[in-house]
Amino acid sequence: MKRHRETAEEIQARLIVAIDGPSGSGKSTTARAVARALGLRHVDTGAMYRALTHAALERGTPLTDGEALGALGESLQIEMAARDHGDVAVTVDGVDVSSSIRSGAVTKAVSEVSAHAPVRRAMVRRQRAAARGGGVVVEGRDIGTVVLPWADVRVYLDASPEVRASRRREQLRAAGQSMALGDIEEEQRRRDERDSQRKTSPLRRAIGAWPIDTSATSIEEQVDQVLRIASDTARRLADLYEQAPGQPSVWKRRVSFVLAQDLIWYVARFVFGLEVRNGLDKQLEESYLVAPNHISNVDPPVVGSTTRRELHFVAKSGLFKVGWFAKLLRSVNAFPIRRGIFDREAMSTALGLLQQGRSVMIFPEGGRVLGGELGKPRSGVGYLAIHSGVSVLPAYVTGSDQLRRCMFRRRRLIVVYGYPIRIPPALLEEYQAADDRDSYRLFTEMVMSAIGALRDDIGPC
Ligand code: C5P
Repeated sequence: MKRHRETAEEIQARLIVAIDGPSGSGKSTTARAVARALGLRHVDTGAMYRALTHAALERGTPLTDGEALGALGESLQIEMAARDHGDVAVTVDGVDVSSSIRSGAVTKAVSEVSAHAPVRRAMVRRQRAAARGGGVVVEGRDIGTVVLPWADVRVYLDASPEVRASRRREQLRAAGQSMALGDIEEEQRRRDERDSQRKTSPLRRAIGAWPIDTSATSIEEQVDQVLRIASDTARRLADLYEQAPGQPSVWKRRVSFVLAQDLIWYVARFVFGLEVRNGLDKQLEESYLVAPNHISNVDPPVVGSTTRRELHFVAKSGLFKVGWFAKLLRSVNAFPIRRGIFDREAMSTALGLLQQGRSVMIFPEGGRVLGGELGKPRSGVGYLAIHSGVSVLPAYVTGSDQLRRCMFRRRRLIVVYGYPIRIPPALLEEYQAADDRDSYRLFTEMVMSAIGALRDDIGPC
């Protein structure tokens, strides 16, 4: 099938641009201007947290009660609409709260409210829904790290505390309020501390986000910077579409691999009812790091059968002890990895394969995680993504741990793919040179967030 080659302009119109940063960094002004220049929708996630905080204060919901605040966050009807003069009108259950959500009382309480995990779950779901289909600029604190780690453009704005405080003073002045600069700085410091030290989704620059320091730049300059990044990204994606293999030719795969892949696919499809979602349409690159959650020993063949690439797999080293089985594993491109440690040898094998343009499947959780929850991210996926520069394709698999029930259609076997997570080539060197285990883990955490989003989309099966 011939795919429609999107032009850079078409791609630009459906970009997802994530802009994060602390208060006073120039986020809102930049996000608004970028959205206007590109004709995209503007989603202000801070306004959502403020709207919830405002409702909680009005109803007397205790700010310490995370569950109650989360439930309130689920139930409110929060709407945002761009107004003619560029800012956003916010209504909660039909009542316009655009100016009251900027009051001192809300500003003081919002960080406490937004630190609760149930609140974040409710709001992140709304924010992802608001970004569905693309064509949006989304601003906040955790958009590039947690909410939309697959955003095409991720930017992190920051400025010195003094500059940020004086910007805030100007904003207050414009709204007819006044506050001493020292008090603003103190309040900002406290809010930043809370926002960046909380357990769930702290404020920080996402791995692969462009840092922009706005201390000494004009608004036009910072907007221009983001616009330039956005148009470069759209052009790069258009080039990818131009060369897109989509479904790579079977000749790029060994015949025996294609046969095994097809055989497993037919069995999974017709015996166990496998459903594949978002299969191949956004998969532009030839080489990927495929990163699924892991719940069963059959995940590698099942998930592997749904890609049209010759994959290489990591498998725990214990499986290579018996000669004939080791041979079999190697014949389907598996290579050993020692569990529980950062296995440099296995990592360098995987890296070598990716650098040769091959695709590798690796589990971000390291091993199987049973019981329905997603596990903690390890550093492997981040290490490989940063050192190879290839895109990471998050996938979510469910049902593979209950094949018998799938056979009788009492349970569904589903593999769903997310959008690829890419680190801009120009930023790779910085992370490669730092060789920092935390960065690897933080990147893998972004991949796990994307897998969590896929799981939420599917819902109970
Ligand atoms: O951006 P704004 O200052 O309006 O955000 C208000 C507060 O909402 C922030 O201080 C932060 O506590 C919270 N927030 C958040 N995550 C976001 C956006 C805002 O926790 N994505």
